[in-house]
Amino acid sequence: MARRQGAGVHEYSIVRALVDRVEAAAVARGATAVRSIAVRIGELAGVDVELLATAYRTLAAGTLCERSALEVSTVAARWACRDCGAAIAAGGPLRCAACDGPAALQQGDEILLERMEIDVDDDGKDTTDVRHARI
Ligand SMILES: [Zn+2]
Repeated sequence: MARRQGAGVHEYSIVRALVDRVEAAAVARGATAVRSIAVRIGELAGVDVELLATAYRTLAAGTLCERSALEVSTVAARWACRDCGAAIAAGGPLRCAACDGPAALQQGDEILLERMEIDVDDDGKDTTDVRHARI
């Protein structure tokens, strides 16, 4: 996993893709503005949340996202046995206590656009659910 390749390069490229995706979805629904977006970041995704927020403010300027709130939730890594599915505690050896099978990551490396809320001309507010769209 590439980390710290220059300040925030990773975060800026994520946010650029995020803003593109959100704006395209907002335009497709006739939005006049994006009110808020929620993203979910796994703790193993290698994303600095502060840098992400800074990048968002910078790249959202001049787009429909300009005045939107950004909510970020972080997701802890969770492992399970690839063979029998038993949960494997983080922090210990990544082998299954029951059958010694290898651990598989269940969650914690995702970067997901979870939700966006947009303003539309007619009804004022429209909540658009885009759950689990990978950025
Ligand atoms: Zn197992």
